[in-house]
Amino acid sequence: MTDKEYIKFSHHIKAAIITNRVGDDEKQTIKLYLKPYKTEQKRCPICGKKCSGYDSKAKERSWRAPDLNGYKVLFISSSNRIECPEHGVITQRVPWAEHKSRFTKTFEAEVAHAAL
Ligand SMILES: [Zn+2]
Repeated sequence: MTDKEYIKFSHHIKAAIITNRVGDDEKQTIKLYLKPYKTEQKRCPICGKKCSGYDSKAKERSWRAPDLNGYKVLFISSSNRIECPEHGVITQRVPWAEHKSRFTKTFEAEVAHAAL
């Protein structure tokens, strides 16, 4: 298993590829640059429909993911807005997080579990 495969596995990254990985030993942070599979791009976060793009420039967004070996993990991806015929101009869906959440699904699951 390669590093990337291990990270994909341990963080349950599905339907996305890791395009880059930047580690910062001083800040103890790992940034993972993700790109959803083509079939997952430009999807409405509410109805899941494939929509047309709205922004021409991609804005970078980050999501907090569970730590890895004591390092803070951030998922970074461009989050373009799309135009859904039903829901209007909205930020496209990403496979690893809920709509509007700043945390990944696995991070939220971990926090929810710890709170029990
Ligand atoms: Zn929609």
